[in-house]
Amino acid sequence: MSDNLDPISQAIRIQTPRTQQGEHSTPLYLTSSFCFDDAEAMRAAFAEESDDNIYSRFSNPNVDEFTKKMVALEGAQAGFATASGMSAVVGSIMALLKNGDHLICSSSIFGNTNTFIKKYMPGFGITVTMVPAGDNAAWEAAVQPNTKMVYLETPTNPQLEVLDLEWIGQFTKKHKLILNVDNCFATPLLQKPIDFGADLVIHSATKWIDGQGRVLGGVVVGRADLIREIYLFCRVTGPSLSPFNAWVLSKSLETLDVRMERHCHNALKVAEALQSHSQVAFVKYPFLKGHPQYHIAQKQMKAGGGVLCFEVKGGVEAGRKFLNALQMLSVTANLGDTRSIASHPASTTHSKLTEEERLAVGITPGLIRISAGLEKVDDIINDIVQALEKSV
Ligand SMILES: *Cc1c(COP(=O)(O)O)cnc(C)c1O
Repeated sequence: MSDNLDPISQAIRIQTPRTQQGEHSTPLYLTSSFCFDDAEAMRAAFAEESDDNIYSRFSNPNVDEFTKKMVALEGAQAGFATASGMSAVVGSIMALLKNGDHLICSSSIFGNTNTFIKKYMPGFGITVTMVPAGDNAAWEAAVQPNTKMVYLETPTNPQLEVLDLEWIGQFTKKHKLILNVDNCFATPLLQKPIDFGADLVIHSATKWIDGQGRVLGGVVVGRADLIREIYLFCRVTGPSLSPFNAWVLSKSLETLDVRMERHCHNALKVAEALQSHSQVAFVKYPFLKGHPQYHIAQKQMKAGGGVLCFEVKGGVEAGRKFLNALQMLSVTANLGDTRSIASHPASTTHSKLTEEERLAVGITPGLIRISAGLEKVDDIINDIVQALEKSV
């Protein structure tokens, strides 16, 4: 039914087959395992001659519904949903790389991804070269005979650098490398990495996809042969998405398009309002004309996303004073919520990096990250401006 619909409509209309109850909204399939009519049906399921569900670590109707919607939105061949964004990151790398392989990774990546890649991957015999986001020559120079995958996110968290997906897609194609893109900040509605040659796209569904700060979740979508390997790895290692979380996330996808429109509108308005503020050293937002990669953002994104960042004059102390003076915005670690959020990466998400490593990826001492919520934009701006006045 839904195959010929626009992906946005598919994200609303894809649904598990209706039961004899005739429910309109998908029921929750809270079950660890599934029953078979007879021994032959069970044998066939285990032999993968049927696609009957066996056990919820492998598959579950709620999880499948969420996954199918994400596959449609990203224009992918297949997908696998995971318990968190981090298990999508780890699963997509560990299922495909082995002892002796080499990974090229953008140096501007999520803090925990950075820790996983630098601290744990060498223990499995997988070597890594970290390259500065926009330095094309460094990407070329990093290629080795055993390089297998390129990993990146764009826009980056939290400094909102934009990587040129068209250039990187051609680069990975030329060297026959797997391109793995964390599309968390853009969501499939603003950016489709597969159109530029990505083989895999991963998400922390915890952020914009849930959009209401309730559950953890993740997903990997992309080429069917690679997803098959990731599925086999994950069904053995167990980072499966819970059916309850999948139900929440699938419902959330029905409103993702309208929510992102307002998040992006609010983020741009806040960014514009802060540009001229005397307490602000700089503002970064992909769709602000002054952004260093503004033209790349315009080429590959439909809108700038819901996150902006800015530097409060006065360094770490001013950053702390700013957070303490906020009245409406939440001071919390998440992003991608209906409620606007402020955070201070240098003392929190990126505190595990050295000062030097932080500066190398643009995390200055007074950097504040704002996740623009769905409140009336004037209320968001007013709260930020009054807190800036108290951060002197
Ligand atoms: C939050 C985040 C992750 C990790 O996702 P979890 O759901 O918290 O495990 C990965 N990448 C990016 C860009 C993120 O913002």
